[in-house]
Amino acid sequence: MSQLQEKIKALAKDQSQDIIAHRHHLHSNPELSFEEFKTAKYVASELTAIGLQPEEGVAGTGVVAIIEGRNPGKKTVGLRADMDALPILEANDVPYKSKVPGVMHACGHDVHTSSLLGTARILYTLREEFEGTIKLVFQPAEEKAPGGASLMIKEGVLENPRPASMVGQHVAPNIPVGKIGFREGMYMASTDELYLTVKGKGGHAAAPHQLVDPVLMASHIIVALQQIISRNRNPANPSVLSFGRFIADGVTNVIPNEVTIQGTWRCMDEEWREDGLRRMKKMAESIAEGMGGSCEFEIVKGYPFLKNHPELTRRTRTAAVGYVGAENVIDLDLWMAGEDFAFYSQVVDSCFYRLGTRNEARGIISGVHTPTFDIDESALEISTGLMSWLAISELNA
Ligand SMILES: [Zn+2]
Ligand SMILES: [Zn+2]
Repeated sequence: MSQLQEKIKALAKDQSQDIIAHRHHLHSNPELSFEEFKTAKYVASELTAIGLQPEEGVAGTGVVAIIEGRNPGKKTVGLRADMDALPILEANDVPYKSKVPGVMHACGHDVHTSSLLGTARILYTLREEFEGTIKLVFQPAEEKAPGGASLMIKEGVLENPRPASMVGQHVAPNIPVGKIGFREGMYMASTDELYLTVKGKGGHAAAPHQLVDPVLMASHIIVALQQIISRNRNPANPSVLSFGRFIADGVTNVIPNEVTIQGTWRCMDEEWREDGLRRMKKMAESIAEGMGGSCEFEIVKGYPFLKNHPELTRRTRTAAVGYVGAENVIDLDLWMAGEDFAFYSQVVDSCFYRLGTRNEARGIISGVHTPTFDIDESALEISTGLMSWLAISELNA
């Protein structure tokens, strides 16, 4: 183990109780997407206490801070944490339970934020021991379109200085605490929402010849659209089309005037994402028209797909092996959920990895976005030191 790594591990251990205290504070005081006002103040005041000069109010509630090492112009690495909570009523009975009814840090963003505060302190303490610059990015609204990341990029977070790479982490309640997961290349999906309104002419179900049946039209559309996945998609290219809402509000003997359908479209390729959307819209409209009705096909664009830059991820993974040991670094599967870190990954080389937070023996097994989500907090000592080590390793690469 290098001397620097020993120093990082000692610093991470020394401040581990402080980081847990940060996490408890944030967990007790969760704020929804784009409303992270108190959270941002808390983050900014801690960064100031460390000795940094945070810039507040980026994309509303975002906070950015710079740590300059020796030769700061050499290279910049960006480290990102998201700060928002979810509209969920916490069901955990813990001392740090949410004090805000119906709002909960159920996706672990309190963990990411407190962890990055710990990493900031370590990197600031060791600033004479590395060359280059660290950019700390605390962003709002990972959970809500258009995503805090996209707004922070618009406001210039990837400029002045421009990070050569962005690194982010996410808690993983399916991975045992102590383990870290990586995946090169495509990792998480783009997410677009589909809203279809299929219009016909309703009336008495006994007289179908006098009607234009939107229920039958919508049924054909649902079935036909799946053929875009099976016939137009390159089989090597993962994507998902799912419809979770189909409302035909008639009764046994009344056919309604219209049917509404809602679904989600997820891809791992930006070109295919657009091509698929074009094909779906055309097919739905043509089927409805061919059957004498019409279809309004509305698309609400979400996040792009998240690609982990292969070489950066390989280097980061190697550094992680050096920090936690090969036995604690695992490979991740594709995950068709969305994540707004994807916006960074479309602009600069990026690496998004998973932090194991599961502890079955202690019953810490609930998934993210559930009212009983929690973590094994020993993950925080690992995550603060690990991210510090990964950042310094990348600056030295
Ligand atoms: Zn989430
Ligand atoms: Zn999340």
